[in-house]
Amino acid sequence: MKAHDGMYIGGRWRPAAGQDTIPVVNPADEQVIAHVPAGGTEDVDAAVRAAREAFPGWAATPPAERAAAIGALRDALVARQEEIAETVTAELGSPLALSQAVHASLPVMVAGSYAELAASYAFEEKIGTSTVLLEPVGVVGAITPWNYPLHQVVAKVAPALAAGCTVVLKPAEDTPLTAQLFADAVHEAGLPAGVFNLVTGLGPVAGQALAAHEGVDLVSFTGSTAVGRQIGATAGAAVKRVALELGGKSANVILPGADLAKAVNVGIANVMSNSGQTCSAWTRMLVHRDQYDEAVALAATAVAKYVPGERVGPLVSAKQQQRVRGYIEKGVAEGARLVAGGPDAPKETGYYVSPTVFADVAPEMTIAQEEIFGPVVALLRYEDEDDALRIANGTVYGLGGAVWAADDATAVAFARRMDTGQVDINGGRFNPLAPFGGYKQSGVGRELGPHGLSEYLQTKSLQF
Ligand code: NAD
Repeated sequence: MKAHDGMYIGGRWRPAAGQDTIPVVNPADEQVIAHVPAGGTEDVDAAVRAAREAFPGWAATPPAERAAAIGALRDALVARQEEIAETVTAELGSPLALSQAVHASLPVMVAGSYAELAASYAFEEKIGTSTVLLEPVGVVGAITPWNYPLHQVVAKVAPALAAGCTVVLKPAEDTPLTAQLFADAVHEAGLPAGVFNLVTGLGPVAGQALAAHEGVDLVSFTGSTAVGRQIGATAGAAVKRVALELGGKSANVILPGADLAKAVNVGIANVMSNSGQTCSAWTRMLVHRDQYDEAVALAATAVAKYVPGERVGPLVSAKQQQRVRGYIEKGVAEGARLVAGGPDAPKETGYYVSPTVFADVAPEMTIAQEEIFGPVVALLRYEDEDDALRIANGTVYGLGGAVWAADDATAVAFARRMDTGQVDINGGRFNPLAPFGGYKQSGVGRELGPHGLSEYLQTKSLQF
């Protein structure tokens, strides 16, 4: 697989400061497909310096010109869409159809939305006798995970650039090749040198150096709650802005009167997509006791269609495979009933996990409380609406969720009582302009659309 052996800093690829490299592994066949440099403090420092130098010029660039540059970046991503899809498949393991339909397409949609927003956003407003200026925060340190390798990057970089910020990106070590392709697209789009910079490397080394760097004004992080907590503490100590997109344990609440078969089928598809490696996946299915047995049977039938190696890919790494299999073992040990799947790996080669459905899951069990990040669905039984709400809200997380009911009004009434950042009503539909982010320990701040853009702005009021 094609890989750059340097860092993209100050508008060009240049050698890393050290000799260390990171192997990139194809999780479907466990073969090493490339190596990328493992950056350290010196590389991060050079990248932050380049971003600082570029900041005044980019911040002063008229929004319409920034919009045109983001539009050119979008076009460069479109031109590379097939290569992006193949690269995501090679380093994440997702089936090519999913890489094409989601991993290579969603970022184009998001970049396009910010090309439009940069041009139309009100960077100045009148409040009484004052004029309020919405100004870019400065240099952004972006730290991204591997689960949506390009989307997670674009969801941070595009709004930051639209706001007038400059960026240093530290992508996940499992999926650095997609991030390198993004840097190529930035270069082709002709963005000014230093506006976007890329440092590949390990989290506790390059990621930590970026989060702690005094030249970084805002850290935007997506990943585990454990690392998010650490980054929040580092940023807090330095009084710098922070945005955190963390884990989830989202509830799929099926109210009596809903189309049960549809709700169960879409619910299973939602978790199986990307092998369950989606932070907002509806991993807990809540069903009324009168419909519970029917829902369990429907879920078992639905999950059988997700054949490992065909419709569902492997997990990203051996570490994640072990982690998820450990959770499945724990579910069995704590008394949940296996309806499909189980801890045994379904294939000898590749980091596959069997699509798994658990019934008789109690709300306090580990598999109903902790983020598993694999193709595992837990079916929970509820007595009445208040019981369903108590279960839905009964975790430390609050990222996504779904409500199915006989009509939208009934579902919305329930959704209003949920402690979570977004709820899909009777199936929902992805809207790239709607804010995405968490309540409770699922995070701080919002991504996407105008709310995502405002994260990268600070306000200055002029009194007359
Ligand atoms: P992680 O939090 O360890 O990694 C995410 C990013 O943070 C990566 O770029 C990593 O290099 C970096 N990082 C790691 N340690 C760091 C540190 N000390 N300082 C600065 N940056 C650091 O996540 P992971 O190991 O890839 O996955 C573990 C779990 O995280 C998953 O099982 C899942 O529960 C969760 N996760 C959530 C999301 C999400 O979108 N919310 C995405 C990926 C993983």
